[in-house]
Amino acid sequence: MLSVDIAIVGAGVVGLAVAGAVAGSSRAVVVLEQEAGPGRHTSSRNSEVIHAGIYYPTGSLKASLCVRGARMLYDFCVRHGIAHKKTGKVIVAASHAEEPGLEALLQRGMENGVEGLALITQAELGRIEPNVRGTCALSSPHTGILDTHGLLRRLEAMAADSGCTILYRTRLCAVTPVKDGFVCRVEGPDGQEYSFASRVVVNAAGLWADHVALLAGIDCDSAGYRIHKVKGQYFRVRRSKQALVHGLVYPSPETDLVGLGIHATKDLSGALRLGPDASYVDTIDYDVDSGAAGVFLDRARTILPFLEEGDLHPDTAGIRPKLQAEGGPFRDFEIRHEADRGLPGMITLAGIESPGLTSCLSIAELVKGMVEDSGLL
Ligand SMILES: Cc1cc2nc3c(=O)[nH]c(=O)nc-3n(C[C@H](O)[C@H](O)[C@H](O)COP(=O)(O)OP(=O)(O)OC[C@H]3O[C@@H](n4cnc5c(N)ncnc54)[C@H](O)[C@@H]3O)c2cc1C
Repeated sequence: MLSVDIAIVGAGVVGLAVAGAVAGSSRAVVVLEQEAGPGRHTSSRNSEVIHAGIYYPTGSLKASLCVRGARMLYDFCVRHGIAHKKTGKVIVAASHAEEPGLEALLQRGMENGVEGLALITQAELGRIEPNVRGTCALSSPHTGILDTHGLLRRLEAMAADSGCTILYRTRLCAVTPVKDGFVCRVEGPDGQEYSFASRVVVNAAGLWADHVALLAGIDCDSAGYRIHKVKGQYFRVRRSKQALVHGLVYPSPETDLVGLGIHATKDLSGALRLGPDASYVDTIDYDVDSGAAGVFLDRARTILPFLEEGDLHPDTAGIRPKLQAEGGPFRDFEIRHEADRGLPGMITLAGIESPGLTSCLSIAELVKGMVEDSGLL
């Protein structure tokens, strides 16, 4: 039977970044992707924001991997010519009642090691974003945006250049633990199934991470790996109003951290989008409900008063692979070597929602360390 050292399930930003990090040293690395190309799911359906790491509980993987990941990602973009821009971001208090929340965010952001954060007055907000209404704001000058498709293409090319084999239209359908690793059964492009052996399997399957863990025999409910799908829709703002916002404008965050609130993001072409909203769903369906425009308008108008009926047009949608159940407590990323579950060599990445794009390189670094420390290769 054909044998490799490392099989990575998923060619999103995380799987591809992991592939680039663990390749080399004459290791045989294969990436399995069920779709016809890289990043066809969450990795290409997001806000494209390089987050600074403000929101997440201090000490969480989300906080530490985001702060480190943002630095690594800016550096990576510069070195590899990936389009990006440090636009800066303001988180706006719509009323005095929201101001203590911003002070708490400032405190948390500083504890997380985010640089440059400052509370700014209404007048200072007016100078940065004259068309945004708020009583004050938290300014994050190091937040930015990037071209995620450019990042995906670069990560894919680097993995391939380091000798990884990337198999598209190839779905992992079974994983059997054996004495020295795993036998992976896959369904290839023409529907034929075949098997190969791998010493290490990295589960970077995003919305399917719980399914892939289950294939390896992990009980997802007792492990806490059940993925809850939370859809986020975007609306594009009428072209004539795009220049009314300069950077990224966020409302004060929802207390349950299901989403960061409907915010305004610019992409690198200057287009202005509103979103994403957040609703728990059962199926993967990326349609945008044009009827939601009214709700978006109502929510966004508190801080973006220039928006009017007819200004919003349905854009894209993405689905967050959340571990946090509806109404449940905050859940961190799960990044774990499953040796203590009797599966040495199985590495699970579950719940890699936002800030997973920002953190893709720091997650890859962490997984590389787990592979090296396992002593299996
Ligand atoms: C609405 C929204 C907004 C977001 N905004 C931001 C943001 O601004 N900044 C930020 O940092 N993060 C953001 N995120 C989060 C970020 O997009 C994700 O954390 C990141 O893209 C996750 O990448 P991934 O590689 O883990 O998953 P994915 O991109 O989903 O890749 C997983 C891949 O695994 C493949 N796969 C699954 N099962 C199998 C199988 N059995 N066999 C073969 N292949 C399989 C899938 O086809 C998929 O391509 C946002 C997410 C959403 C939904």
